[in-house]
This record gives sequence, structure tokens and C-alpha cells, in this order.
Amino acid sequence: MIFEWQAGLWQRVLERAGRLPHALLFAGPAGGGKRAFAEALAARELCSRPAADGHACGVCEDCQWRLAGNHPDLLRVVPEADQEDRNDASAEKADSGKAASRQIVIDQIRDLQQTLTTGGHRGGRRVAIIDPPEAMNPYTANALLKLLEEPTTNVLFLLISSSPKRLLPTIRSRCQTWAFPRPPADAAARWLADRQVPDAAALLAFSGGMPLAAAVLAETGNAAARKRFVADIASLPGKAPLRLAGEWDSWLKSKDAIAGGFDMPTLVAWLQRWVADLTSLRLGGPLRFFPAQHDILHGLAGRLSVDAALGCYNEITQSRRVSQHPLNARLFLEDMLLRYARHLQAAAPATRR
Ligand SMILES: [Zn+2]
Repeated sequence: MIFEWQAGLWQRVLERAGRLPHALLFAGPAGGGKRAFAEALAARELCSRPAADGHACGVCEDCQWRLAGNHPDLLRVVPEADQEDRNDASAEKADSGKAASRQIVIDQIRDLQQTLTTGGHRGGRRVAIIDPPEAMNPYTANALLKLLEEPTTNVLFLLISSSPKRLLPTIRSRCQTWAFPRPPADAAARWLADRQVPDAAALLAFSGGMPLAAAVLAETGNAAARKRFVADIASLPGKAPLRLAGEWDSWLKSKDAIAGGFDMPTLVAWLQRWVADLTSLRLGGPLRFFPAQHDILHGLAGRLSVDAALGCYNEITQSRRVSQHPLNARLFLEDMLLRYARHLQAAAPATRR
């Protein structure tokens, strides 16, 4: 399945039928459907008789293998933490916070190489999906580079990236990049309306205009988490930042948070959006992520100098870089919230509570 806003890209697939380059890099912000597009393209490439619209037929033997989830020539390389059928051992590993679980590791690329050298099972096209290629250390990325440099016949590599700038330039240069821009606002809103996603406009704004990200927010219950985040962050600087840090630390460890996939990187990304809106407001710009919280943000922006707003934004951006694996979650939150509150207080001592 592809999305309405991807029709132009699908047309490109049809125009280049049989002449696709051996490696494509799908690049664009998360939550717009790059993965679904890659799956549709992989399905088409593996199908023995695609339909007139270019999509896989869904009934041939190849399609049946694929739909059953075990087509031997559809090769997926994803971080262990993202694998759907995580067994207990890997779940345990992920819980212990080992970096490897969120990374594509060298053995996965070696396995891929091994598989590709042994020839296809079904004798036809093979597709290797690397998702996301930025989840590799330079050593592993170089192993992938070797594979891309010596293309095996009849293999299509699909790299799916929301941070293409983080890839080795040599990897980017081996792929043809297809840009997946943010969908048009009306198409995104229509898609959410069709799915009857509650509070769609607010969630779409909060997700930076990315419809799938908005739907995930609604489905995972993180819409409720978002409400709590707004109430909590709006309580600063009136409330002690250290107290809020303690509450957030417990929140992140709660069963609900873990079940909904609400984690530290998500929380820090939300704070970054909050401060981005604050900064934008201070500079006379529009609210992008929290339009419904205009009054609260307006009140806070009045306490900030332009320098403080920009300084605050830069600091949160720095925090975001280490949010995946802070050494100590509680201390990390304390440091971040203290900095945030300090910016708000330093700029406007006269209006302090
Ligand atoms: Zn088929």
C-alpha cells in the first residue's frame, strides 16, 4: 500500500520498471510512510506478475510467501530492538539498555553478505531493506558500503532514513536518493480523518505535519502522555525543577510508559519542540507544535530574552543527542530541567512568581 501523497513517487517506479538502480535511499522526515512505500516496492519487485497499477498481485506464489512473512529473498536488516518477533532474550537485552539493541550490528551485515553470495532461493529478484542505515557504527557502515560497491546481480537495496545526513557520504553516493518530503497538509488531514483519529489537528501539528507519526501518538496512548507533558512543563518555573525531574524519572519507568513506547528520547524530543515553539513565538513566528497551548507559551515567551530563548533551544538540542543513553536518567533530567528553568528565570527576574 502506498499513500495518496506518494503517487508521484510510485509513478517514478512505474516509469523506471526494470531500470531501477541497484540501491535506493529513501530520505525524509519520520512519519510520512517511507517504510510502507519500501514494502510496496519490495512486494512489487518480488511478485511474479504485478498488476497494471504496478502493485504486487497478492496471489502468486511469491506474494503468498511474502504475505506469510517468510519470503526467502526479502531480506530485512533492522536493529534488534525494532524486530517484531522479539524473543524473551532480546527483550531482556533491550530492557538492560545495551546500545547494540538499537543498532544494526556488524554480524547482521555479514549475514546479509553471506546470504547474497549464496544466490536467491526463488531464482528471481531479491530485495534487501536496511532500516535505518544511520543505526550503524562506521565499521558496520563500511561493511555495508562494500556490499553496495560490489552489487550482486538482481538485488535491490532499499535504505530507509530519516537522518540521511548522518550517513557516510560514501554510502549516500552509492545510492540514488529519493526524497520523501512532508506530505501536503490537506492530504495528511484527510488521511487522519479517514481513520477517525481523535484530536487529529492537534496531533498532526505536534507531529510536525507527519500523519503516521500523529496516528501512532493517538494509537499508543501517547496522546494522554502528551497532555501530561504539557501540564508538567507549564508548571515550571513555578515548581521546583528537581521535583519534576524525579516525577518524570518515575514516569519513564512506569508500566504505562514502557508499554506505550514512551521513553527518554521521546520526552526530550517533546521538550525540544516545546522550546522550539517558545523561541519561534519570541521571534514573532508561528507556533508549530503546540498551537493549542498558545496562551501558556505566550506567557512564558514574555519572560525570555531572544538570547535566552536561543540558548535554551541549543542546550535542549545538545541534550537530545545523548538522550538515547544517558548515564543516569534522573541526573540527566535534573540537569535539563534546571537549565530550562534557569533560562526562564534569569531573563525576567522582575516577573518571578
Ligand atoms: Zn504476486
